[in-house]
Amino acid sequence: LMQLFRPLDMLGWVYRSIRQGLIDMGEMFRLMDSDIEVEDAPGAPALVVRQPTIAFENVVFGYDEERTVLHGLSFEVPAGHRVAIVGPSGAGKSTIARLLFRFYDPQSGRILIDGQDIAQVTQDSLRSHIGIVPQDSVLFNDTLRYNIAYGREQSSDAQVEAAARDAAILPFIEHLPLGFETPVGERGLKLSGGEKQRVAIARTLLKDPPIVILDEATSALDTRTERDILKTLRRVSEDRTTLSIAHRLSTIADADRILVLEQGRLVESGTHGQLLSQDGLYAAMWMQQLADDDLNEDDETGDRQQ
Ligand code: ATP
Repeated sequence: LMQLFRPLDMLGWVYRSIRQGLIDMGEMFRLMDSDIEVEDAPGAPALVVRQPTIAFENVVFGYDEERTVLHGLSFEVPAGHRVAIVGPSGAGKSTIARLLFRFYDPQSGRILIDGQDIAQVTQDSLRSHIGIVPQDSVLFNDTLRYNIAYGREQSSDAQVEAAARDAAILPFIEHLPLGFETPVGERGLKLSGGEKQRVAIARTLLKDPPIVILDEATSALDTRTERDILKTLRRVSEDRTTLSIAHRLSTIADADRILVLEQGRLVESGTHGQLLSQDGLYAAMWMQQLADDDLNEDDETGDRQQ
């Protein structure tokens, strides 16, 4: 691994990532841990998206040679659809998101967006078409305005405000004495998990990409907040092709299609209703979650988790 590690390349790449507004995914994708092995093909053209479709074709992938994580995965997401990926911990759900964002290339198989192999287009153009809302965004030590407008610095005050309103964080910001100029992050105001996610949602709404990846883990939030967040997450996926990485099934029951992944293989696929009637892994996970929810029913702990 260390032989692949080229500090200067790495620094340049991280710098470009910051400039392109990708750094908020630092946590999710552990940027600093990933090998920098993905490069633009010589003379690679830009991705051109007319119909934001996604297709995985027989994708085989492992982080190292000893272990294959995805075993020939194929699925399609039609333009404008919301497809959710569920499965036990370690099944490979986040890996699919990392591959779509091209932090890694598959060992074999292809990933296509609007018919174009993402390994054959420039990374900049690929990433400019994809928005990511991670569960727990890392904020910059800067103002709320900066954090929302990040990567879209030319945005007007009215645009930033509209994005904050649509992400349901405007009332919160307006109650702060410094409003949008409030410093946040490690050295500023500490935001709850839900508030940080809303900042990420506002940033994505401002970026307005045709494809979004949502990390729908809301299990750390109480049910009322969860419902509010879900409403705003739905707004992000409206009219966009959406891949939802789901940790709680209740958040994705209304997806157009649900892919059930187990140990890197697609074992079931269908709508919530279809999967329940199949009485397989999804149905078992659903029953388990209902039982867990019953246990936690009275656990309204509030929104402030840091
Ligand atoms: P969870 O629901 O717990 O987030 P997941 O389905 O998203 O799990 P992945 O994060 O995609 O699972 O991980 C799939 C497999 O790949 C796991 O066995 C994990 O240990 C392994 N893995 C993930 N990231 C790396 C990495 N950077 N290097 C090596 N192995 C990794």
